[in-house]
Amino acid sequence: MHNFDIKKVMEWLGYVLRCPICCIRYRLEQTKIIETTHDEFYGEASILIHSDCAKCKSSVMFNVEIRGPEVFSVGMVTDLTQADSSRFKKHGPILPNDVIGVHREIRKFKGDFISLFTQQQLP
Ligand SMILES: [Zn+2]
Repeated sequence: MHNFDIKKVMEWLGYVLRCPICCIRYRLEQTKIIETTHDEFYGEASILIHSDCAKCKSSVMFNVEIRGPEVFSVGMVTDLTQADSSRFKKHGPILPNDVIGVHREIRKFKGDFISLFTQQQLP
C-alpha cells in the first residue's frame, strides 16, 4: 500500500514541471488541481492540473499519472482559464451531432454575426 500526500506531490510537480513555451519553472500558487483520483492499494494516482505561466502568461493543463515508482505526464497548451477548466470538466465531449447541429443553424442564420457577438450596452 502507498499513501499519497497530495501536498508533497504538488511540491514535487512544482519543482519538475516547466512551461512548454518559455521553459520557466511553475510557481505552486499559479497551479491548481482540477481533478484527482487515487487508488492506494495499487499505488496509482491521476492528477489533472492547470497552470498559468508567470512569465509568458500561457496556460497549460497537465495530466500526471503515477503508477508505483513510474510517473507519466502529458502537457497541453490551452486557452482555458482555471475557472473554465473547472466548469467544462462537468460537461461531456462534443459529439458529431452537436457540430452538425451548429452547422445547420449557421446555414439558416440570416442575421448579422458581428452584432450578435458584440457586447451591447444597456440603455
Ligand atoms: Zn511560459
